[in-house]
Amino acid sequence: MRLSARTELAGVVGSPVRHSLSPVLHNAAYEALGLDWAYLAFEVAPGDLGAAVRGATALGLRGLSVTTPHKDEAAALADHRSPAVRRLGAANTLTFSGGGTAADSTDGAGLLADLSESLGFDPAGSRCAVIGAGGAARAVVLALAEAGAAEVLVVNRTPLRAFRAASLAPGVGRMAKPDELDAADLVVQATPSGMLGADRQEQAWPAGVDPSRLGSGQIVVDLVYDPAETAFLRQAARFGAVTRNGLGMLVHQAALQVALWTGEHPPLRAMWAAVSR
Ligand code: NAP
Repeated sequence: MRLSARTELAGVVGSPVRHSLSPVLHNAAYEALGLDWAYLAFEVAPGDLGAAVRGATALGLRGLSVTTPHKDEAAALADHRSPAVRRLGAANTLTFSGGGTAADSTDGAGLLADLSESLGFDPAGSRCAVIGAGGAARAVVLALAEAGAAEVLVVNRTPLRAFRAASLAPGVGRMAKPDELDAADLVVQATPSGMLGADRQEQAWPAGVDPSRLGSGQIVVDLVYDPAETAFLRQAARFGAVTRNGLGMLVHQAALQVALWTGEHPPLRAMWAAVSR
């Protein structure tokens, strides 16, 4: 990649952000597309997003990916919000143009694109369950409901938050108990508990869910991708479930951002190759 006076800039804002794989994904995409674009990671302290966005706008950045802890503030400060952002009150994508700052959420669509591409899974008419009720879980609940899931169960440590997340899926969403997951076609583990050490994960399965009760005929996803196989996924696979980690969701949510900002068809093969390296 050669930077020039014409190079267009995009990036990711978060705190912490130095571990992010987004620069690898986006820069691989620009290179494969032959674009004179570059993408950097910006450590932005909590409370500083407004200043960062004003600076990005003044400098003519094309877009920003937004990660923890700025997703709610990104939605609040945008001039235009997608329907998903309005429902979620959170955004992972900001696009800058003459018409102001636009906020989008590509996380939920990213997961569904990965499940479709890798497993041919279509949520329409299926029974789905989400463990967790934070930002990622809420994006997944909304995306599943909008894709026509017949049922979206939400299991979470804090029941009130499960109730609120389930309300993003009117008519099909409801708070559920861990032992109701056995009947789901798709189970999405959307808590960070897989990032704990393996022995600690097994002592405290998220929200009391025992993955050995999951198994044959079920797809089980853990949104964590580091480690590549959490203890939760390993256990579910041992009992016959088809498993998938969160790397595909990461790749596809970035691909949707590339499409939004550049107007080009995202080069998924190049993005997968870069992130696999
Ligand atoms: P978040 O907003 O902080 O929400 C975390 C959720 O997990 C909450 O519902 C919390 O329960 C629950 N939780 C946390 N620790 C738990 C534990 N030890 N046992 C049981 N429940 C626990 O986080 P988030 O932004 O949604 O992210 C969740 C995970 O998804 C993270 O690991 C993140 O890295 C991953 N993620 C992956 C992608 C991807 O592209 N693959 C995208 C986004 C996020 P309470 O409500 O009871 O507090």
